[in-house]
Amino acid sequence: MAEIYSFTSDPVALNSYLVVGEERALVIDTGSGPAQATGILRAFRTVTGLPLCVVNTHDHWDHFFGNATCKAWGIDTFYGAAGFLRESQASAWVQFENVPLSAEPDLPSDPGNLIVPATELAAQDSIDLGGGTVVETLELAGHTESDLVLRVDDVVFTGDLVEEGQPPQFGDDATPARWAQALRRILLFEGVTAYLPGHGNPVDRRFVQAQAADVAGLAADHTAVVPARNSAGSSATGQSAAPVGLVRIR
Ligand SMILES: [Zn+2]
Repeated sequence: MAEIYSFTSDPVALNSYLVVGEERALVIDTGSGPAQATGILRAFRTVTGLPLCVVNTHDHWDHFFGNATCKAWGIDTFYGAAGFLRESQASAWVQFENVPLSAEPDLPSDPGNLIVPATELAAQDSIDLGGGTVVETLELAGHTESDLVLRVDDVVFTGDLVEEGQPPQFGDDATPARWAQALRRILLFEGVTAYLPGHGNPVDRRFVQAQAADVAGLAADHTAVVPARNSAGSSATGQSAAPVGLVRIR
């Protein structure tokens, strides 16, 4: 089984993940700029000296603005879903103002400099990390125009299609009907024991089922309120404590 780590860092308590194969390791989501990306890479470098590659779950600032810093660290292999590659340049310009400058004082003045060339993943594809560790990828949508879901062994990385501890974030680029459909698609995967969200604690199948019902409720009635849910149970009890720093998951 692949070794899997999470690293949670601010802004916005982003979970980045590391999947370690025999020949290389995959970083999932790079943070909001140079400062956060540097923290993520430093943490993951304490785990492995293998060559790193990078993939982004979607084109929101907290998940991909650290890519250029990864490149500056010598990482030369980046992957993205077709929709991510199509949208990320425009998203960098639109979302540039969202980054808290107190956290990212060294953000480049030109948002275009945040973009790094990447290899396009097919709608259903895989990333081979060596030694039999293969990360399967599936492009869905709903939280954004393009949400990449990844699976290795019994673990699924959901990006922000799943959110634990806070209500799911419905921005201008969200489509509740497609989002509910995406969560139902994820629930069809067999043999999954943990879903790892972009923010918050790992969750189980019951949690994803409940969140799928919440999002479907919003798709049916746009005035519906989507609650925060906690991994400990299916009803919200307020924000749960997210894991801090580097945690080994598998
Ligand atoms: Zn996010």
